[in-house]
Amino acid sequence: MDQTYLQLYADFIVKVGVNVRPRQNFIIRCPVTMPEFAHACAKAGYEAGAKEVVVRWEDERLARIQMEQGKEEDLCALKPYQLRSYLDYAEDPDGCCTLAIHASDPEAFAGLDSGKLNRVNLARRTFLKPWQEYTMNDRIQWCVVAVPAPGWAAKVFPGMPVDQAMEKLWQLIFEVCRVTTGDPVAAWKEHVARTKARRDQLNAWDLDRVRLQSANGTDLTIGLAEDCTWEGASSLAENGAEFIANVPTEEVFCAPHRDRVDGIVYGTKPYAYNGQLIEGWHVTFKDGKVVEHGAEKNTDLLQKLLTTDENADRIGEIAFVPASSPINRSGVLFFNTLFDENAACHIAFGAGYPTNIKGGAKLTRAQLMEKGLNDSAIHEDVMIGAPDTRITGVRKNGEEVVIFENGEWAF
Ligand code: ZN
Ligand code: ZN
Repeated sequence: MDQTYLQLYADFIVKVGVNVRPRQNFIIRCPVTMPEFAHACAKAGYEAGAKEVVVRWEDERLARIQMEQGKEEDLCALKPYQLRSYLDYAEDPDGCCTLAIHASDPEAFAGLDSGKLNRVNLARRTFLKPWQEYTMNDRIQWCVVAVPAPGWAAKVFPGMPVDQAMEKLWQLIFEVCRVTTGDPVAAWKEHVARTKARRDQLNAWDLDRVRLQSANGTDLTIGLAEDCTWEGASSLAENGAEFIANVPTEEVFCAPHRDRVDGIVYGTKPYAYNGQLIEGWHVTFKDGKVVEHGAEKNTDLLQKLLTTDENADRIGEIAFVPASSPINRSGVLFFNTLFDENAACHIAFGAGYPTNIKGGAKLTRAQLMEKGLNDSAIHEDVMIGAPDTRITGVRKNGEEVVIFENGEWAF
């Protein structure tokens, strides 16, 4: 890949995405297959003044072997050091920030016992929750990005030699992440400012509910949680540092009320879940809960997703993304939520973000639940935006506003 773009991508991610502050510990999770990129990010981290750059290598092929051959009870028995290895840095008076670099093969776990996979993942997420609360609540700066993996590139560009597909996927990532502009820092500043203006308008309207409609049959009304707040583009950590949680990001999102979602919604892109694709799906909600669902392909996986835990069949996020987003315009299905969720409006089954509730980071999960914010061990984004999506909102004063027309922002 283009080495200039690679360093520009790493610099922009570390200095603008994570926004590493002087003396902070900087934890990087990186696939073992991408040492060069971890090195570029570590270099940028020290340049930004990091106290210690900690790289945690992740190995998907090893994870598959463990998942296949390890006993479920042993895989679920996590050791205290696994949590401490994060908390030791989070609790350091100098604080920390974190970057997760994903290079996932969408089929990495294909063919494995999905029930076992789900239960092990659930045990891990539950065990690591004290660490996850740091990112879920924006207590620290955090950022999630992706780099190509051979299995992923082959999926996106089937029939192409793997080297060529990897190269093409790098190029595509550089394009949709505005790196090919040559000045990603400036391009992102402009994009962040535009997105914040829309977020601020949505907040100023003080909406009670929104309604999404499209010719594919979708007609979904989503009541919003009490004291909810629209977020988008950048976030603020407890230390006041601005960061971009997901690169790329094109969304403005809010917390639905877990009991006030009604109607039917059709998926507009396949959903890659545990390495397999759920295609042509739909769900029907009543009083916030999924009461009926189906899919043309892997409907049993959708069933598993929705029954992961007690609240996995309610939603924790509604996000608006215009059809003109660079990811959608690329016309490529990435088979990767980080990108695909930025191609279309989406909802997420499972937990909502406390940061979508005013003062939410300081509230307990029970208090948040009272305001309507859903809680679950999962947060799975599924795409529902269509080229003709129309979104209207009803303000608390009863006035109706048009938010989207033909898949685009209407204001
Ligand atoms: Zn989202
Ligand atoms: Zn989400």
